Amino acid sequence: MTNVPELFGSLVFNQTVMKEMLPSETFKALKNTMDDGTPLDMEAANQIANAMKDWAISKGATHYSHWFQPLTGITAEKHDSFLTPTEEGKIIMSFSGKELIKGEPDASSFPSGGKRSTFEARGYTVWDPTSYPFVKDHTLCIPTAFCSYNGEALDKKTPLLRSMEALNEQSLRVLKLFCNEAKHVTTTMGSEQEYFLVDEKLYQKRKDLKMCGRTLFGARPVKGQEMDDQYFAAIKPRVIEYMEDLNTELWKLGIYAKTEHNEAAPAQHEMAPIFTTSNLAADQNQLTMEIMKKVARKHGLICLLHEKPFEGVNGSGKHNNWSIATDKGENLFAPGKTPRDNAQFLLFLTAVIKAVDDNQDLLRYSVASAGNDHRLGANEAPPAIMSIYVGDELEAILQAIKDGTAYDGKKGQKLEIGADVLPAIPKDSTDRNRTSPFAFTGNRFEFRSVGSSLSISGPNTILNAILADSLRTFADELEKSKDFDSDLQKLIKREITSHWRILFNGNGYGQEWIEEAEKRGLKNYRTTPKAVEHYLDKKNIELFSKLGIYTQEEMKSHYDIKLEKYCQILNIEVGTMLEMVHKDIMPATFKYMNILADTEFKMQRVFSLCTAGIELMEKLNTLVNDLSNKADDLSKKHEETTAISDMMKRAHSYAKVVIPAMQAVRLIADKIEPLLGEEYKPFPSYEDLLFSVQ
Ligand code: ADP
Ligand code: MG
Repeated sequence: MTNVPELFGSLVFNQTVMKEMLPSETFKALKNTMDDGTPLDMEAANQIANAMKDWAISKGATHYSHWFQPLTGITAEKHDSFLTPTEEGKIIMSFSGKELIKGEPDASSFPSGGKRSTFEARGYTVWDPTSYPFVKDHTLCIPTAFCSYNGEALDKKTPLLRSMEALNEQSLRVLKLFCNEAKHVTTTMGSEQEYFLVDEKLYQKRKDLKMCGRTLFGARPVKGQEMDDQYFAAIKPRVIEYMEDLNTELWKLGIYAKTEHNEAAPAQHEMAPIFTTSNLAADQNQLTMEIMKKVARKHGLICLLHEKPFEGVNGSGKHNNWSIATDKGENLFAPGKTPRDNAQFLLFLTAVIKAVDDNQDLLRYSVASAGNDHRLGANEAPPAIMSIYVGDELEAILQAIKDGTAYDGKKGQKLEIGADVLPAIPKDSTDRNRTSPFAFTGNRFEFRSVGSSLSISGPNTILNAILADSLRTFADELEKSKDFDSDLQKLIKREITSHWRILFNGNGYGQEWIEEAEKRGLKNYRTTPKAVEHYLDKKNIELFSKLGIYTQEEMKSHYDIKLEKYCQILNIEVGTMLEMVHKDIMPATFKYMNILADTEFKMQRVFSLCTAGIELMEKLNTLVNDLSNKADDLSKKHEETTAISDMMKRAHSYAKVVIPAMQAVRLIADKIEPLLGEEYKPFPSYEDLLFSVQ
């Protein structure tokens, strides 16, 4: 049995190690840098670098790397060894403060959306002291921000840090009005990570899984998830071994892996960590995804992080639990016990409601990807429409404020914010509705639309930004107030009334909601290009630039990168699909038909009447001809689409023309598959993939 407390964080250069290895003055200086960004002098930086190196070598490291998160959404690293040659032809192991603080990975091949042409390709990585360095694969990894020569963000970390700062600033303005003595607020994040495990040998036989991370074909197995016998079921031995190994690796890296269970679909599982500061949580989630994949290989498994690896069963998400806490440990999304705390909570809640309603487009944008488009609105995943679930208790309170009436607890008396105590809001009952994309769960919000493979930095940057913007307008108004309590009540009532449409406690999976949402004027951007189309609206550019989170140029590059990536993914999927039709499915069908024909020929000599084989051949013949035609049609439509030079138009064409053509191909192929004899099937079936790991 592992000694978990000893193991936990053993590969992390955390505060305990820092304190142990650094002179106390240097430790203090570093702590100030971590807490409020006070610059470090070079001498301190040299001492820190040296201590980091000695510590890392003791953990088996030979190299160091500035670890960063380019706009690809995954992490990047370039390893340099600690080796420095001496005059005697030997080497010493060295690492300087300069090397710690700033790196120049060149990295001209990362997407920058045209922000850097190759001749000015320099990108810099800059140490982020708020996230701990760690040792991975014999390398000391130093979390860094990645920016261009002019300081533009080329990564996902920089904007996240900027958004946390903006939210800190605006929250403090609001808290001051409540005479709250907080000096700093920070956002916290806990992301439940869903994933699938499939057998590696089967995976290797599926070109679609290898190239696209999802299946492009596959008839439904006779059993799917309808029996609900997988969710929270006893975990199979091979999966348990995997989870144990995964936990060990995560714990070593100081990742608070806490909960593990089977998810709703066969072969689907979840890991939830304990929440932490958003910046650290984002780094840790990136590492978690990497380690999940790596550990799976050791067990002869493949971890699929795609949002929709299999049609007809649940997709995978990454429920993003989000809250704000003060330096005094107060959770600002917790209702509290006193009238004052309740009033403060209601103002933050109102700010969230306003933020989500005003910025449905941005939230949808933040989770838009080719993969997540298949998940949103399909099989047990929230729809592409944004709405907020607050639970019945809280809705009754908001209703009372809106209508100026009594709420349950007090008969005949109007609810007075700042004077009345709110009735208790039970945490349990707030989490009953799992169909909402954005649910209040008692002391935090759970943004459920985030896809399983996405970096959580993007969605959290946007959550922080839109809330900071709401709070900014509230602070602007209330700072001028002469009668705070009365103006506060008026503001909350006004905002709740005007944003009432975004509250929805009903079933988010139903068709009725889609119609109802349309009547309410809520946005329903079903595809990525639709979601991206509004990103550069004036409202959004103003919001981000006012708060100093993104410049207009940075936004333009996100826009380009998102569209380009969308088109690239579809381009690969179409190519893979056509290859599988021509190299796998059609040959398998012909092979089987050939056998049938041979058999039939012989059978006819023995039995005068033998029709089963002929009927089957006829069926297969019709289907295979149809498949060939549909594949040609897809190929033609794809060619026409790739010829469109305007990226937005091309992306729309993929969504509107190419995806339906892909579905048409799949439909036929999935009809052929169950008709082929077991040994003639072109690749492992859904049944093999979903039920093979025992
Ligand atoms: P459920 O599946 O019922 O939503 P889980 O226990 O699987 O619950 O996940 C809850 C997640 O929410 C965990 O990652 C947890 O750490 C996180 N969480 C709890 N409190 C907060 C908070 N204040 N801020 C951010 N995340 C939180
Ligand atoms: Mg949850």
